[in-house]
Amino acid sequence: MTKKIAVLPGDGIGVEIVAEAVKLLECLRRDFGLDIEMEQALVGGAAIDATGTPLPDKTLALAKQADAVLLGAVGGPQWEALDIAARPEKGLLGLRKELNLFANLRPAVLYPQLASASTLKPEVVAGLDIMIVRELTGDIYFGQPRGVRTLPNSEREGFNTMVYSESEIERIGRVAFDIARKRNKKLCSVDKANVLECTELWREVMTRVSKDYPDVTLTHMYVDNAAMQLVRAPKQFDVMVTGNMFGDILSDEASMLTGSIGMLPSASLDANGKGMYEPIHGSAPDIAGKNVANPLATLLSVAMMLRYTLQQAELAARVERAVSRVLDQGYRTADIHTEGMRKAGAKEMGDAVIAALH
Ligand code: NAD
Repeated sequence: MTKKIAVLPGDGIGVEIVAEAVKLLECLRRDFGLDIEMEQALVGGAAIDATGTPLPDKTLALAKQADAVLLGAVGGPQWEALDIAARPEKGLLGLRKELNLFANLRPAVLYPQLASASTLKPEVVAGLDIMIVRELTGDIYFGQPRGVRTLPNSEREGFNTMVYSESEIERIGRVAFDIARKRNKKLCSVDKANVLECTELWREVMTRVSKDYPDVTLTHMYVDNAAMQLVRAPKQFDVMVTGNMFGDILSDEASMLTGSIGMLPSASLDANGKGMYEPIHGSAPDIAGKNVANPLATLLSVAMMLRYTLQQAELAARVERAVSRVLDQGYRTADIHTEGMRKAGAKEMGDAVIAALH
């Protein structure tokens, strides 16, 4: 059956990089039999300018109807003076919430061709391939009660609540075990079970779920140690699973091991495998409209869409191989360019990946 993809370019370089992703999807449809249809809609600042709101009803309806959402990026200085509730980023948060996207998948992959882009020694990071699975709709970011209150002695006190139910832990655990099963069958669950009861329960539930996955080796690690191990010996990890707050911090740390923000895709999935796919970077207003943005994070987000929603693992691998091949051929956008390499703009990079597919 034809799968529907909602295409939301957003703002800044979002427009340029999503255009390359659309070219790629069109090629997959034309030459490789991918049965899809695409429809575009506005989100973020572009939607504010056209309709007064960052997530118009029409966009939300399209995203709900679609099997997958491809998003560029939102935001820019021209909307920064708006109230927080009216800013472009609200469009993104609204989509995550309305679509119940509870599982955030962030791979940190370092292509050997780019090993010198990392701030870590090449031998520590070359060949790095970690998948971080972060719970996205629970934890201290959403827990009640929360707020700032005034104590009897007139001093103010801020408070938030870390909370996870067993079913929430089990749900994200199963996503992570399923992914580990398709990779190197090693899952590290990250918690702070020595101090926080909430994550003591997390550890207990992960251990229970592991009984259904005897082929996957589960280990546990405290979050402070995990932060240290990620910079000391990151290649020990295959898949990591953790809560919303720890995952927020660790996934940023892991992505920076690769040194190239323009290379990293992400997926956010619901319970039925529907997903929103986007590069981890923002709208980069400083380089927007100049055809210099790196489109590879967005093209690799398409690969994740093929793997996790469209169930086209072969095509996903084909896209990933094509990216690796253009790096071998020496194509580099400005953000990853080093001496002696072929300088490419967003369009040239997109064309090169499409040519390398065949
Ligand atoms: P950013 O990720 O947009 O840019 C950070 C730096 O990385 C910039 O120098 C930029 O030029 C560079 N960069 C980013 N992506 C690149 C690419 N594909 N190719 C080459 N260089 C790239 O972060 P920022 O500057 O902090 O934020 C800019 C705007 O984006 C803000 O409005 C912010 O709120 C928004 N933002 C949106 C998202 C999202 O839509 N998911 C995420 C982060 C930031």
